[in-house]
Amino acid sequence: MRGTLHCHSTWCDGRDTIETMAEAAIAKGFGFIGFSSHSMLPSSEEGWMLTAEKAPKYARAVRALGRRLKGRIKVLCGVEADFIPGVARPDREVYSCMKPDYIIGSVHSVVAQDGECVSVDNTQHELFTGIAMHFDGSPRKLVEAYLAQLRCMAEECDFDIVGHPDVFRKFNVRHPFFDESAAWYVRAMEKTADVLARTGRPVEVNTGGISRGWIDDAYPSERFRSILKKRGVRFVLTSDAHSAEALDCAFDRFAALDLDCEL
Ligand SMILES: [Zn+2]
Ligand SMILES: [Zn+2]
Repeated sequence: MRGTLHCHSTWCDGRDTIETMAEAAIAKGFGFIGFSSHSMLPSSEEGWMLTAEKAPKYARAVRALGRRLKGRIKVLCGVEADFIPGVARPDREVYSCMKPDYIIGSVHSVVAQDGECVSVDNTQHELFTGIAMHFDGSPRKLVEAYLAQLRCMAEECDFDIVGHPDVFRKFNVRHPFFDESAAWYVRAMEKTADVLARTGRPVEVNTGGISRGWIDDAYPSERFRSILKKRGVRFVLTSDAHSAEALDCAFDRFAALDLDCEL
């Protein structure tokens, strides 16, 4: 059954409402759509993320939409929850206020040894400045710290799907800053895949970097996917759509990878 468990709406940084997204999903022949608004509970920034106050309202709105569209499409209420050690965690207990159908655990910001947080997914300027100021000018240190943080999330938090495990590649096509075939990077992917295989959750194959024109491959990369696959990790195909037209971006290309895993 076609669908995506990863998409964003006007409840966070998406362009379209949940109603518009769901109608577009029906028009594309989806059998289900799962919304996954950004959140950083228990810490919350005002504005485009779900806060403790906003999360239950969001859940009620998604569930009401699901009731209205019953028989046409299955609507699921999820959350894309950030993992920042000591600040925010993707955890069923933390999100109990919205009783999510599923939680995607994602790392967007990596914590440096000096305690500073550097986003790998915001702007190229922030990433490059962050590497210079907080990772001794070493992209390798940032990438290794990112993957260590991802492994820590997989081992310590209670969530359902591993979000875009190498989203730090976002700027690596337009402004290459590390060699994806380097031996140290292959080792870091293997070490991470070992933990993801052991902890047993599906990993998303996320086409959001393609729809937004950053890269021409999914997160994780083809190489990372083959390392994960070799260890028996299951995949779930998602679009990370921030607008209705991106809901099924590149799905034909990656359809064979979608193992239709049951949550
Ligand atoms: Zn994300
Ligand atoms: Zn997302």
